[in-house]
Amino acid sequence: MKIAVDLDGVVFNFIEPFRKFSEEILGKSIPISQIKHFNWADNGICTKAAESKLLHEFACRGGFLYLNLIPDARYYLYKIYNDLKHDIIFITSRHAIALADTYVLTQAHGLDFPIHFSDKENRKWKIAKNLDCSLLIDDRAKYLIEVEDNVNYIQTMLFNLNNQLEVSDDDKNKIDFYVQTWKEAYDLISEL
Ligand SMILES: [Mg+2]
Repeated sequence: MKIAVDLDGVVFNFIEPFRKFSEEILGKSIPISQIKHFNWADNGICTKAAESKLLHEFACRGGFLYLNLIPDARYYLYKIYNDLKHDIIFITSRHAIALADTYVLTQAHGLDFPIHFSDKENRKWKIAKNLDCSLLIDDRAKYLIEVEDNVNYIQTMLFNLNNQLEVSDDDKNKIDFYVQTWKEAYDLISEL
């Protein structure tokens, strides 16, 4: 089968570098506890427009070029590919400005899988459907719920590293699988 995998929050650690960057630009402290409710706008840290600007600025300054891998991500992605014989594609909602950096980053980490960019019109669920994916792994419940609402045969896996984001029970109930590590993700995928 083909598995669609989100990049930020699933393969690369994005939230912590973005928290530090936001603190620097906004000139105020954002406690780690606030990460539970990323986006910043939902949290009252800044407006939605300011948050979009921050993300744009983060991309412009090469923020997406210097992200660290989430523990075991590469090991298990290749185990899924080589041992379980599943195809892997990446789907990211990163800003288009970060397109070149995204290729450089994934290649630098030896992650040689096709990358697809989603946006407001070209949603992740549409890309996953058009490319015949059977599973989407993402750290944001909203993208998975869009899959559940639009394509019922694609399964959904919420990857919430060490429970870093708060997910409502309502959202959890709509999603097929909930994991906190790549080992858990691999074990579940090996049984599909
Ligand atoms: Mg993500």
